[in-house]
Amino acid sequence: MESSNNPYAPSQASLNGGTVRDYSNVWRFEKIVILVPDSDLPDRCVKCNDPAEQPTKTRKVYWHHPGFYAVLLINVILYVIVALIARKTAEVNPGLCTRHKQKRNLGLAIGWGGLLVGIAVTVVAAGDNPGVAMLGILGGITCILVGLFMSRVVYAKRIDDKYVQLKGCGAPFLDALPEFRPSGRDLI
Ligand SMILES: [Zn+2]
Repeated sequence: MESSNNPYAPSQASLNGGTVRDYSNVWRFEKIVILVPDSDLPDRCVKCNDPAEQPTKTRKVYWHHPGFYAVLLINVILYVIVALIARKTAEVNPGLCTRHKQKRNLGLAIGWGGLLVGIAVTVVAAGDNPGVAMLGILGGITCILVGLFMSRVVYAKRIDDKYVQLKGCGAPFLDALPEFRPSGRDLI
């Protein structure tokens, strides 16, 4: 076999064209990942720290000050409007390995599948069998909650002008990040 046809040789693009990324704006503090807004997360699975399966999606995370939850006591619709106005947004690129992408897809399937089956059971049973209809509603809600929990990648603990704080990352990923030292490196 000619060496130029070696399928296992790294591509020229991967040798020469790759951008060297700077992850110096990413830290961990306890179970929280802290990064400067618009910084790249390491190209690793945020759950287990295995290499991320490409492509890695950029995801939006939202946060608002917890004080706005008080509006919920007044009116749910008013809260939604206030939260939409007050929330802060950040774009992050949390990687997932093949296994954790599959787990996320399974969570999405459980959530959507459970919702559709729950609606179908409720509609069919509503007239004659209110007990079964109620089971359909409860089963649908349970599947949505399980699906949300399984499919969630990361979520914002806090977003301000200096830092984005993320929760939902696994211990192996957190352990590979440098410690955040508020006294020293927070004035970037
Ligand atoms: Zn993983």
